[in-house]
Amino acid sequence: MRVGVIGAGIGGLLVGAKLSRMGCDVEIYERLPFAGGRFTNIEYRGYQLSTGALHMIPHGERGPLGRMLAELGARVEIVPSKPSATIRIPRGNSFEDLEFSEFISRLGFWKGLMYRLLILEACLSIGTGSSFRDWIARRLSDEGVAKLADSSCGWALSVTSGEVSASEGVSIIANILKYGGSGVPMGGCRSVVNALIQVIEESGGRIYTNKKVDGILIEDCTAESLCIGGEDITYDLIISDLGHRETQRLIRGDGHIGCSGVKRYEEEVASMHPTSGVKINIGSSESLIDHTGILLTPYAEACERVEPGDKRRPKPRTPWKTPYNGAHGNAWQRSRGRGETRA
Ligand SMILES: Cc1cc2nc3c(=O)[nH]c(=O)nc-3n(C[C@H](O)[C@H](O)[C@H](O)COP(=O)(O)OP(=O)(O)OC[C@H]3O[C@@H](n4cnc5c(N)ncnc54)[C@H](O)[C@@H]3O)c2cc1C
Repeated sequence: MRVGVIGAGIGGLLVGAKLSRMGCDVEIYERLPFAGGRFTNIEYRGYQLSTGALHMIPHGERGPLGRMLAELGARVEIVPSKPSATIRIPRGNSFEDLEFSEFISRLGFWKGLMYRLLILEACLSIGTGSSFRDWIARRLSDEGVAKLADSSCGWALSVTSGEVSASEGVSIIANILKYGGSGVPMGGCRSVVNALIQVIEESGGRIYTNKKVDGILIEDCTAESLCIGGEDITYDLIISDLGHRETQRLIRGDGHIGCSGVKRYEEEVASMHPTSGVKINIGSSESLIDHTGILLTPYAEACERVEPGDKRRPKPRTPWKTPYNGAHGNAWQRSRGRGETRA
């Protein structure tokens, strides 16, 4: 089977590696000069700046991504983050960093009991028809917990807990209980990307960089060919690693008119809300965070003076002055003798 993949981000590389291993003839097209998309790192003045991801593998080597890499034979060393997260709480003019268990134990008996009830409900997926914020609040009314939920959702998803569905929040909790916290790939995200490229190439797949896909031709309600540099290339299966809006914009020809599947897709895409945020890399002479996990700062205000550089970007739905931010101190990607923190 001939498979054409649009985009060599981590999604395109994973699907490319999986299908190449299964014996498909895979071609991946990437418009940038490098593969990896938002999941790689680029060298800058001795620092390995990530193009997006904070170099964390969700749930470490036991999680879905870690297991998929192992199944594919992609050789990546994943180091567990210990502790996986600390929570920064203001104390007068200073602050205190608490591990999660300590944060919970300070809730006291009754709220601690309600927290345990929530965890049980998360495991059983009970009461998940609301937002994640409301799902928590119906059992546990606590300012710190509410801010922590916003901080976690802001860090992981760039939205507040009120904008995340309870079912999504609950599935994240269930995965943490099942697989544990994040891991860090030695060598950063690029080591994951390089390992996947190796799998694809060893299995006969091809990755073309500097090759932008200009369109997806649909015939008889089926994606038939990719338009690349004025040429139409036909595939048995076409997979897009782009966002839904970008994928929709690439659709060409009249072949999709009247297709109920394409129409439903267009309607769903139109109802989606984009998220947005700003990422900052801070270089310092010493590490600002003394572990490789996540620092959640529920009481901090995120970069209120940073304005989006590109005024054409959609107005962020969450204001810039938000009560959450996340940061990550990383011991493996920084230059010798330097600290590097991403927020
Ligand atoms: C600040 C930040 C921190 C994050 N931290 C983590 C983390 O620690 N751990 C984690 O697991 N995830 C993290 N994520 C999420 C993760 O980075 C993304 O979910 C993931 O990289 C998305 O991969 P993708 O393949 O879906 O998309 P992308 O990486 O966006 O890949 C799409 C690719 O398609 C290419 N492309 C676009 N248009 C065309 C075209 N017309 N023709 C050809 N190619 C095209 C793009 O150049 C790009 O390479 C983070 C994200 C951000 C923004």
